[in-house]
Amino acid sequence: MSIKSNMESLIEEIKILEKNSISGEKVNLIAVSKTRNIDEILEAISGGAIEFGENKVQELREKIEFLPEQNFHMIGNLQTNKVKYIYDKVRLIQSLDRVKLLEEIDKRAKSSDMIVNCLIEVNIAGETQKGGVAYDEVRSFLETCLDYKNVSIQGLMTVAPDTDDQELLRNCFKRMFKLREEIKNNYSEVKMDILSMGMSQDYRLAIEEGSNMVRVGSKIFGKRIWR
Ligand SMILES: *Cc1c(COP(=O)(O)O)cnc(C)c1O
Repeated sequence: MSIKSNMESLIEEIKILEKNSISGEKVNLIAVSKTRNIDEILEAISGGAIEFGENKVQELREKIEFLPEQNFHMIGNLQTNKVKYIYDKVRLIQSLDRVKLLEEIDKRAKSSDMIVNCLIEVNIAGETQKGGVAYDEVRSFLETCLDYKNVSIQGLMTVAPDTDDQELLRNCFKRMFKLREEIKNNYSEVKMDILSMGMSQDYRLAIEEGSNMVRVGSKIFGKRIWR
């Protein structure tokens, strides 16, 4: 299978899966292009890819320069001192998970007189080695975010545990969906349009449970050798 045909069949499959989503919403596909070169990305574009996810600032900068007309998302852990390189170049920062990072993005955005769109990353299963705001702290973190006028929260993102346990995964996705609904009902000033969850191993389950943005890498590009 080629990258192009992988991409085409995934787009077709998502059209079917989204009909059975409990949210009833359309699903936006982010092609996760980390570690892939420009030729591989161009092939994905020929198969219908429009938006791309990267998790390293340096790699993101290089690729945006080659593909300035594409939409890139920052999906990986973001160091505060690297915000300046990407805040005005990405469609969405999906990995906002701490106040220091929030302050830095807001400061940079303000100096450019712009609004930067972000998702709050949630550490849904309380995994200590992972980034993300703890489930019980999302509401208070969100309230802090509302004080920073040059950052606009668009929704939530999570990376589910790396496991084959379907029940555990389903439960994580259900809790994310519930959290998003609760926030929507309680904070009328917050958008909460986006629920970014689901990767190559679990996007079917995630869509069923209400994801409207999946981030898929290896299913499109083949197995990654590293990262
Ligand atoms: C690598 C990565 C993905 C995609 O993972 P695949 O298993 O290759 O689909 C999605 N989200 C994040 C945050 C990632 O780092």
